[in-house]
Amino acid sequence: MNFSLFGQDLAIDLGTANTLIWMRGKGVELNEPSIVAFDRNSKRIIAVGHEAQAMVGRTHRDINTIRPLRDGVIADFEIAEGMLRAFISKISARWQPARKVVICVPSGITEVEKRAVRDSAEHAGAKEVYLIAEPMAAAIGVGLNVHEPVGHMIVDIGGGTTEIAIISLSGIVIDESIRIAGDELTAVIVRYFRSAHNIIIGDRTAENIKCKVGSLVPLEEEIYFEVRGRDLMSGIPKMIEVTSIELREVLNEAIKPIIEAVLALLEKTPAELSADIFERGIILTGGGALLKGLDVRLQQETSLPVTIDEDPLTAVARGTGIVLENLEYYSSVLLKSKRS
Ligand code: ADP
Ligand code: MG
Repeated sequence: MNFSLFGQDLAIDLGTANTLIWMRGKGVELNEPSIVAFDRNSKRIIAVGHEAQAMVGRTHRDINTIRPLRDGVIADFEIAEGMLRAFISKISARWQPARKVVICVPSGITEVEKRAVRDSAEHAGAKEVYLIAEPMAAAIGVGLNVHEPVGHMIVDIGGGTTEIAIISLSGIVIDESIRIAGDELTAVIVRYFRSAHNIIIGDRTAENIKCKVGSLVPLEEEIYFEVRGRDLMSGIPKMIEVTSIELREVLNEAIKPIIEAVLALLEKTPAELSADIFERGIILTGGGALLKGLDVRLQQETSLPVTIDEDPLTAVARGTGIVLENLEYYSSVLLKSKRS
């Protein structure tokens, strides 16, 4: 085992909500929220991942928490790079720069944005950087044979973006990326409670409600739950009772742009590939795929079979890891981009 002398080979899923790092020969070694807490004045990073997440909404004026990836691309380079370094050093016994790094990026990314991701990985110590489109990584993670001349449809719903793509012959035939995904659903819940119940709730509370109570189709047993927040008028803490039925309408409305984008891409799909997708259906990955009833809703709207990956939150990272372990075999799926 001489790779330790040269640092580890890594596969990185730098998501808007979560960062996952796969280490060659080991699998997913890190899975933490893409959040950084830093000192406003010195810009020094104080905490990353779970530790930084616990500080969100509870900081004082010298500390700020941000999600440097927000809309799928790096919004703050310096901080994103620092976060990546901190994550890598967490899983390496001793700080050693990584050798080969495969890193996935949204499919609609521009040449400039590709450069930024590549630079960040290089600054974090990578010697060779390979890029792969997220839907392609998801397809490989799910276990599809992406080299065959058969169409597959992937819908990856993350925090900041939903990526929809048709894959065939090692490439992306057509794709669409929209900035409506899990975060937007959470934001819709916050806005709903404010306008309908005059109660202000935090993002964490709203996200909890979404994951535990949110559903797009009737539940066998509807859920009654308590929501705690601050009264909009009086400013004092308040508690109300809500049902999963009430929340359903709000979520079904919010999910519409995703369904419309899927339908629009199906319309643009070449006929031969349409026939494949008619048979094989749609595969859902990303944390957003866990929203209860999303598969049923998509199936109703498209009349296609819909499958949710067994572990949608790790599909992209697993696929990126498989590519790292078999770089030769998967060389044709890597994104071509100019190096300086
Ligand atoms: P990214 O790739 O952008 O980092 P992820 O694939 O990690 O995103 O998914 C994160 C999103 O999934 C978040 O918006 C989160 O709220 C959502 N999510 C996670 N679990 C659930 C669940 N059980 N129900 C609904 N949404 C969920
Ligand atoms: Mg993702």
